[in-house]
Amino acid sequence: MAIDRERLKAQAAAEIEAHRQELIDLSLRIHGNPELGLKETMASAWLSEYLEKHGFQVERGICGLPTAFRATAGEGAPRIAFLAEYDALPGVGHACGHNIIGVSAVAAGLGARAVLDSTGGSAIVVGTPAEEMVGGKVIMAREGAFTGLDAAMLSHPGSRDAVHARALACAYLEAEYFGREAHAAARPEAGVNALDALILAYNAIGALRQHIRDSARIHGVITDGGKAANVVPDHSAAGFMVRAEDDDYLEELKAKVIACFEAGAQASGARLEYRWSENQFAAMRTNAPLAEAHRSNLATLGRQTRDQPSRSMGSTDMGNVSALVPAIHPTIAVAPPEVGIHSREFAACAASEEGHRGLLDAAKAMAMTAIDVLTDPDLRRRMQEEFLASP
Ligand SMILES: [Zn+2]
Ligand SMILES: [Zn+2]
Repeated sequence: MAIDRERLKAQAAAEIEAHRQELIDLSLRIHGNPELGLKETMASAWLSEYLEKHGFQVERGICGLPTAFRATAGEGAPRIAFLAEYDALPGVGHACGHNIIGVSAVAAGLGARAVLDSTGGSAIVVGTPAEEMVGGKVIMAREGAFTGLDAAMLSHPGSRDAVHARALACAYLEAEYFGREAHAAARPEAGVNALDALILAYNAIGALRQHIRDSARIHGVITDGGKAANVVPDHSAAGFMVRAEDDDYLEELKAKVIACFEAGAQASGARLEYRWSENQFAAMRTNAPLAEAHRSNLATLGRQTRDQPSRSMGSTDMGNVSALVPAIHPTIAVAPPEVGIHSREFAACAASEEGHRGLLDAAKAMAMTAIDVLTDPDLRRRMQEEFLASP
């Protein structure tokens, strides 16, 4: 059986290699035409058409999102999903390298499809829009796009090879204060200062920061601080993000942040209104058995993973997928260590030779990991056990 599995992996890798130039062209085309979240009409059309041309059944506009899609090959369980992202960032284009995520997922689908006759099961490429600005997967998770899957994976480009992603749970808050305007010099006693309320809240949050866990983050901006220096501001507004390593601690911090805003209202007399975004990102839970399978597949491609228990973490909507299905969010190196994502330098790496190499290796490794899951019931059992045991 083990020998057989290696043959299937070689077959999947060869299938991806056979499409090398088309895949690179597709990646460059998306990179050269950056589209913001929920507006990725070209990218989602190009990726889904390519899959259709290669034997996948495609459903477009799923979950009420015009640029989301699901492409299926094979049938029945086990069902392995490769998640594609393809949204860009304002101003800096594909500075998060989502062109590589999108095309590597499609390529992994091609590789896995090539062996489904031998393995059984299904290979599914899910097009998930708007990772950066909205959290498309949060909506898709709510709509049931990921139910019934046995595994889900997505390879994110970065500056090292790693399989254990950590990402913070994240909630977004919009807060507003309503006061009363007055002449700031002639009748200040008649005013209720909405800016004061917000500054007090901002400083209270600053004080709170000393007393939260190291890995948690609270950061925000003032989006309205009044209009004129001689008018007591009757309105102020802010956007804040609260992030924590686990979903429970996030809820605790959310309550503390609201207490800071209430303090501002209390002290100033301004009325507070706030709303949390309904698209809350869950913490990423990396499925360890799946991650270890992926690690050895990357190693056969000559990529030694270097997982660091790093404190630097963002958030991703893949967290919400990982709450529903055994999932991994590995990183594939396409950039030197000093180049961070969301920079112009990284955007250049995402279209470089290193980027192409990363794309193809990520695709091959994901297809191989899918073959492990499809052909190894013991791995599937261990994945499930860990998934059910993780909080
Ligand atoms: Zn990003
Ligand atoms: Zn990203």
